[in-house]
Formats: sequence, C-alpha cells, structure tokens
Amino acid sequence: MARAITIFSARKILTMNAYQPVATHVAVSEGRILGVGSLDDLARWGDYTLDTRFADKTLLPGFVEAHCHAMNGSVWENTYVGYFDRTDPDGRVWPGIKSLDGVLERLQEIERTLDDFEQTLVAWGFDPIYFDDGVRMTTSHLDKVSLDRRILVQHSNGHLLNVSRKVLELAGIDASTDVEGVMKDAAGYPTGELGEMAAQYMAYRVTDVRRFDGINANDLWAFARTATNVGVTTATDLHARVEDNNVNDYLAVTRDADYPLRLVPAAAGLTLSIEEGPGHVASLKRHNNDKLFFGLCKIMTDGSIQGFTGRLKWPGYFNGKPNGIWNLPPQTLTDMVEAYHSAGVQMHMHTNGDEASELMINAIENALLKAPRSDHRHTLTHCQMADESQFQRMAQLGICSNLFTNHIYYWGDQHLALTMGPDRAKRMNACGTAKRLGVPFTIHSDAPVTPLSPLFTAWCAVNRLTASGRVLGANECIDVEDALRAVTLGAAFTLHLDHLVGSIEPGKYADFAVLDEDPTGVPVEVLKDVAVWGTVMGGVAYPGAHNKS
Ligand SMILES: [Zn+2]
Repeated sequence: MARAITIFSARKILTMNAYQPVATHVAVSEGRILGVGSLDDLARWGDYTLDTRFADKTLLPGFVEAHCHAMNGSVWENTYVGYFDRTDPDGRVWPGIKSLDGVLERLQEIERTLDDFEQTLVAWGFDPIYFDDGVRMTTSHLDKVSLDRRILVQHSNGHLLNVSRKVLELAGIDASTDVEGVMKDAAGYPTGELGEMAAQYMAYRVTDVRRFDGINANDLWAFARTATNVGVTTATDLHARVEDNNVNDYLAVTRDADYPLRLVPAAAGLTLSIEEGPGHVASLKRHNNDKLFFGLCKIMTDGSIQGFTGRLKWPGYFNGKPNGIWNLPPQTLTDMVEAYHSAGVQMHMHTNGDEASELMINAIENALLKAPRSDHRHTLTHCQMADESQFQRMAQLGICSNLFTNHIYYWGDQHLALTMGPDRAKRMNACGTAKRLGVPFTIHSDAPVTPLSPLFTAWCAVNRLTASGRVLGANECIDVEDALRAVTLGAAFTLHLDHLVGSIEPGKYADFAVLDEDPTGVPVEVLKDVAVWGTVMGGVAYPGAHNKS
C-alpha cells in the first residue's frame, strides 16, 4: 500500500541540518519527516498532497525548551504581580506593576472579590529588586490587604515567598523558629519572607495551594497552548513530581492525539530519597511514548542570584549580602549525583552561583571516577556565573550547559548594580565562552520565571541587552545562527533527544516552528519580534491563540 505523503512548501526552511541547511519543501508521512529539498526531489517518493498554507512562511525545527516548567500553565489561576507586562496562554496581556504600593493595590482588589477566609490568595511574579527604594515586603504590608486571609506572594524566581501574618501563625513560624531561609528582622521576628524549599514548604503545608504537589492535566493543556503560541514543540517540566497521580496525568494528555507538545518531565530529586529515587526515575522510562520522555532527574543545589540565595565563590555578593542557601547539604548533593549517575540516570543540575557550579562539576568528576560512563550529557542548568576554568573542566568531563540568557535582559541591570558588580556581570551566561571551548550548550527561559519564547531567548544571547538598554559583556554575544541552533538542536542534545527532534531531516518527528519572517533575514535587534504563526507537530498544524478564528 502506498504511504500517505504531505509535502509542505515554505518560503524558506532552515533545517539546522549541516548537509542541507536551507530548503523549500519538506515531505511528511506518518508524523515523521520523509525528506527535505525541492518539490522535484520530493515528488519522487510517489503520490503526495501539496500543502501550500505556509508558502509565504519560514519553517524552523520546532523549538525545544530544555528548562521550563509546566507550572507556566497553572500560574494563571493566580494573580500576576510582576514588574514586566506578561502574556497569558490565551494571548491576553497582563500589565506589569512598578511599585510595592501598586502590588498591594492589586492584592486589595482581589481581596474584595473573595467571600470567606477559606480561600488562599495567591499572587506570582513578584520581585522587589526592581523597586527604587529596595524595600522588601513584610507581613505589615500584607496586613493592609487582610489580617485574616492566608496570602502567598510568590517571587518570580521561585526561590522566595512572602506570606501573610495568618500563614506564619498557622505554620507556627515565630521568633523561635530555627529553619534556614526564614528571614527575620533586627528584633528577631520573622518578616514573612521565606527563602528556598524547606522554609517555603512550611507555609504551603498550611494552605490548599498545590505548589509542591505537582501539576495536573489542565495545567499541562494550558502549558501546551503557551508553547504553541511561541513555536515550541518539545518542552521540559524541569522539577516534576513523579507520584502515580502525576505520572497518570502526563500519560493522559500525551496519549491524546490532539495534545500539541512533547513533554520531558525531569523528576525533582529533592522530593525523592537517595535510596529509592534513582531506581524509580529509571523505571519511569517504561511509560514513555512518542510525546512523553521520562528518565531525566533535576538536582536542585543553590537558590537564586537576584534573590541573594545563590551560592557564590569569593568575593561574594557585590552589595555585601551574605552568601546564599544550599537546598541540601553539599555532601548530600554529591552523594545524590553519584547515586543517580551510577543508576544510569541523566541529570540536569540547577546551579546559579559559581560555587554551586563548582560543587556539581566536582560531584560529576567524582561520580565518573567511580562509574565511568561516556555520553552522559549531565547538564548544568542556569550555570550563570561559570568562568573560563569551569567551562574548561565541563568540556573535559563531557558536561553540557544550559545558560539563562533571559537573565541578561530581566536582571542584567540589577546584577551590575547589586549582585555581581560591573566585572562579573559581563561573564554571566557566557554563550561565547561555551562555544569557544566546545561545551555543548542551549539557552532557556525557566518559564514561568521569565516568559516562554525561544526567539526572545535567542535575541538575548545575540544582543545581551539589559532592560535599560545596556550591553552586558559584548564579547559573549553569539550570532543568530548559533542562537537558533541553541534553541533547537542544542536543547535537544542536552535532553538526549537529538535523534528525534531539533532539526528538519529524514526520520525525525515532523515538528516545525512556523514563523512569519526569516529570523536570519531581519536585523538582529528585532529577532525577538519575528511573529510566530504557530507550530506543526507530528505533521499536524496548530495555529497560535492569536491566529485562531
Ligand atoms: Zn527552573
């Protein structure tokens, strides 16, 4: 029986495939790419249907986001209080708020719509580092919203949380509480700001909020809608709960023929025991299907640099803040790395500060000495402050890096003024050095920490512009081709999926990002503004929210 073939025509196809970087047609059969080239070449496969709807568009491999969270779908059930404007999965723009008073006003508005005190008021996207006066939020501020309500204000970095007096009371957090991350004022009383996972967990425990329970099927659908809007066809959920109910939700959505996203849930190592975690994560692979890829583990080491909980080497924070917080003791993290590595599990390690990167490089070196393994592709994710000596060791040890280039725009000015100072700020998210030293790299959004949009992430790597318009570390800029490669094949490589996605070549899934313009043909300053029509995934076209009639 003859196979059914669809040939898509495009103004231009950027394949990311070295032997044929550019083409005009791609033939698709059974959800996979049959061939790429001219219409004459592809017609030799036999009868086909010509699909010309993208004849004036540019096709790229579907973007691959190797560090984001499915929570990007669920955050929208809460109130957005971030500094920058933000677009939700349905294409609606939420305006940013430029002052602490403005944040409190928005919370008061929501408070007025709530009836009883059963419901927790949750806001997200908060970051006081942008406010001129440098004032931190305290329980006294939230008293103006409600004295009786449980209120959670999640910081954009995910590593800090402000809570109301009611939450402190229910959680039993007071002057006598001796948990790292419970911030206290000069008199020794908790301010309501909670840093890192142990302290945050105390608060979530006394609410009905799902932060530590993992995501559900609804969240996964909203996550996929956002992905389609920005051209993403493969995305990680990089700190996933992997209890049976979570696994069943991942299975349910990915078995749905209409689900337009390939998911890579990375098990949250922090939620598993060292004894049972490695075996459990390895065994999850039995559930994998063509849209679901278990088998990755996320190791959480330090906190957030702009939250001052990242772990820095000497000379530490530029503004003199004390060093940050380890989410687990360094020896435990080293033992975890050895355990997962020995079980054959691939790890993506969250390392923001350079002390955290060094700990993980040492831990991988130790694990490799005890259990040699080629092509492990362990990846330092964020890896924001890595210096040349660390990239050299990563190259030697086969470690990949996933650099947080969106940080340069969103927090570059603050890194320069407060966290790193004018010297080290220039080496943050050093794509140029990674490329020069041969460290395989990709770049990421960490959505919902910053918006999911690979073209924006690529723009950051190419231009390195901060929000105020300053170029941060011009020598670390990369060119557009390298940046586009990083958000396609580069990301696929760090996920061990480069044999299936990341380029447009025969045998791979027919996953494309459909763009209105050729991103290599516009001035680099406007790379982020190239409009995305939507995606093709497995040969099926999915228009973005803005293109649906
Ligand atoms: Zn993250």
